[in-house]
Amino acid sequence: MLASAVGLGSFAALADVPAPQDIPFDGVLKINVDATDIAHRVFRVHEVVPAKAGPLTLLYPQWLPGNHSPTGSIDKLAGLVVKANGKVIPWKRDPLNVFAFHVDVPEGANSVDVEFQFLSAQDTRQGRVVMTPEMLNLQWNSVSLYPAGYFAGRIKAETTVTFPAGWQYGSALEMASRNGDTVSFKPIDYDDLVDSPIYAGKYFKRVDLDPGAQTPVFLNIVADDPKFLEIKPEQLKVHQNLVQQMYKLYGAHHYNHYDFLFSLSDKMSGNGLEHHRSSENGVGTGYFTEWDKNVVMRDLLSHEFNHSWDGKYRRGADLTTPNFNVPMQDSLLWVYEGQTQFWGYVMAARSGLWKQEDALDMLANVAATYDKGRPGLQQWRNIQDTTNDPIIAMRRPLPYRNYQMSEDYYSGGQMIWMDVDGKLRDLTGNKRSIDDFAKAFFGMKNGEWDVNTYTFEDVVKTLNDITPYDWTTYLRERLDGHGPLIGGFEANGWKLVYNDKPSAVTKAVEARMGGANLTYSLGVSVGKGGDIADVLWDGPAFKAGLSPGMKLVAVNGKEYSSDAIKDAVTAAAKDKNQPVELLVKNFDEYRTIRIDYHDGLKYPHLERINGKADRLSELLKAR
Ligand SMILES: [Zn+2]
Repeated sequence: MLASAVGLGSFAALADVPAPQDIPFDGVLKINVDATDIAHRVFRVHEVVPAKAGPLTLLYPQWLPGNHSPTGSIDKLAGLVVKANGKVIPWKRDPLNVFAFHVDVPEGANSVDVEFQFLSAQDTRQGRVVMTPEMLNLQWNSVSLYPAGYFAGRIKAETTVTFPAGWQYGSALEMASRNGDTVSFKPIDYDDLVDSPIYAGKYFKRVDLDPGAQTPVFLNIVADDPKFLEIKPEQLKVHQNLVQQMYKLYGAHHYNHYDFLFSLSDKMSGNGLEHHRSSENGVGTGYFTEWDKNVVMRDLLSHEFNHSWDGKYRRGADLTTPNFNVPMQDSLLWVYEGQTQFWGYVMAARSGLWKQEDALDMLANVAATYDKGRPGLQQWRNIQDTTNDPIIAMRRPLPYRNYQMSEDYYSGGQMIWMDVDGKLRDLTGNKRSIDDFAKAFFGMKNGEWDVNTYTFEDVVKTLNDITPYDWTTYLRERLDGHGPLIGGFEANGWKLVYNDKPSAVTKAVEARMGGANLTYSLGVSVGKGGDIADVLWDGPAFKAGLSPGMKLVAVNGKEYSSDAIKDAVTAAAKDKNQPVELLVKNFDEYRTIRIDYHDGLKYPHLERINGKADRLSELLKAR
C-alpha cells in the first residue's frame, strides 16, 4: 500500500507517480486564483509550472494535514487544461491514483500553463460551503496542483488572489503588493502555503490580541452582517488573556506572527482547522452578540490555537509526510488531538472564556461519555484503534456512533491526560503536574516553526524525566484497554455523579439540538421534532426496539415534546408499573414501544470529594 502510493518497491508499476525526494525544485510555481465568482461559488485557477521536456506528473493534494486523512476534494476539480508553448497538450489521470495527472512536456518548453476550476459546494451535502455573498474561505490544497517528485517544502510558490471588489482578508500569508482587489503574496514553500489559508469578506474586523507584542497575534473576523462584529470589552479581554495564558503554559511559541481566521456565519460552513501560524475557525453568527447561548463553542479558539504547539510544531513521526500525496499514519492522535482537547478546555477556563462552573459542566459530560456513554469501548474497540478513524469514517455520520466509536482519541484522549495529571500530582506530592509536561514537550526553541517530530517513546521519556514511573504500561493500559476513562477526577478531588437535574451546559446543548438528551436514563437522545439522534447500544431504549432512524410521535398517548418525554421518565420512576410508552414512526409504519425503565432522569455532574484536596480547581485557575 505504502510502496505503491509513493512509487517505491515492487508495486511501483501500479501508480506511475514519482516518489517525493528531498531535492530543490528548479524554478518557482506560480499560482493565480480568481476568487471573484461568488455567484457560482467557483474559484478559477491559473498556474505556471516550471518544467523540462519529458514526463511530468502534477498532483492534487490528497492527504490533508489536520484532516489526517485522504480527503482532498478531487471531485470538485473541473475544467483542467494544460498548455505548453501556447498549445494544448493532453493530460492523463493515473487510474491507480486519481489525484495524479500525467503530461508529456514537449521539446522547447520550459514551463506548462495549467488552468482549472474548483467548484465549491453549493449545498452542505456536497461538502463544506466556502463561498457566500459575504465571505469566502480559500484553502490552497483545493486551488493548486503541484509537481510530483519533490518534498513539498522544497517547492517555492508565488501566489496572487483576486478578491470580490472591496473585500478584506486575513491570512498568515505575507502581502508583497496590492493592485486593486488583486493581492500578491511573498514567495513561500508549498507546504507552508497549504498551511496558510485565507478568510475574506465584505464585513471584516481585525482585532489585536497582543497589543505592542513583538510577535503579533490577530483575530480576523468575517461575518454575515456588520452587527455580528460588535465585541464587548470584557469579551475582547478574555481572548487577549488566552494568548498570555498560552505563553505562561509553554514559555515559547512557534510562529513569527499568528492570525486567527474566524467566520461568524449561518451560511458558510463551520470549521475548526489548525495551522502553524493561523487557524480556521467557524461558528454561527451569535458568538459575540449572544454570548451566553454559546458556551459550548467557546473552547474552539483555545483548541485550535493550542495546535500551533501540539500538532503543527510537535507532530507524530508517522503523521509527518514529505508531501500531500503520501499516506499518513495517525497512531499518535491521542497526543495531537487528545491533549489539545484537554488544553482547549483548561485554557478556556484559565483565560476566562469559560467560568469555572462552565468548565466543570463540560468536563462532567465528557467524563460521563467515557463512564457509560461508549458501550463500544467496553465491548470491542479501544482508544488506540480509534486513531484510524479519520481514514475509516472520514467524518461521515454513523448509524450507532456510541457503539462503533469514531474519533474518540479526542475526548477519550482528553480523559487519559486528565488521568496523567492526577498521577503526576499523586507521585510528586502535588509538586509537578501536566503543566510541566506541556512546557517540556512543546515549549522548546522559541520562534522556531519547522516540524519537530516525536514517537510514543519520546512521550514516555518526557514523563519519566518529570517523575520516574512505568509510564509505558500506564499509557498502554488506557490506550489499549476497555475500561472507563475517568480516573483523573478522583485523584484531583472530584467524582462523577448522576442526578435528575440537567446542568446549565446540558440545558444549552439541549437548546442547540432542540431536543432531549436522555443518554444516561432511557438511553436515547432526541433531536428537533422527535427525530431520534442516537440510541445507546444495549440501553433500555435499544432493548425495547428503538433505533436512530425512527421518529417519536407521541409519549404516553400525548403528542411528543422534549418536556413530555422527560415527564414520562419521571412518572415511570414514581410508578413501577407504568412504562414509558412511545408511539414511533419507522418509514411508513407506526409502532407502540414500551420501555420498562424506572430509575428516573439522570444527568452527569462533577461533585467534590470531601476531605480530598481540590486540585482540579487548581488546574483550571489562571496562571
Ligand atoms: Zn484539533
